[in-house]
Amino acid sequence: MTRPTCPWCGTSFMPRSDGGKPQRFCSPPCRKKYHAGCRAWAEDRVNRGLLPISALKRALAQRTRSPEGDLSEG
Ligand SMILES: [Zn+2]
Repeated sequence: MTRPTCPWCGTSFMPRSDGGKPQRFCSPPCRKKYHAGCRAWAEDRVNRGLLPISALKRALAQRTRSPEGDLSEG
């Protein structure tokens, strides 16, 4: 059996097996940093005029429609 690898820090980890969504990150801090990084990246591009707000709206609409879409604040 292969362990998944955390895309943020590269650590392989044992995913929780309590059902629900598949775990992508080894720990909540990695998950938070990933989301913070996404936000910073997108904001930077919006501020520089490289990414239209409409693209963000579209992405958000797709995410809220999917059952997997929980981007918790923080
Ligand atoms: Zn990690």
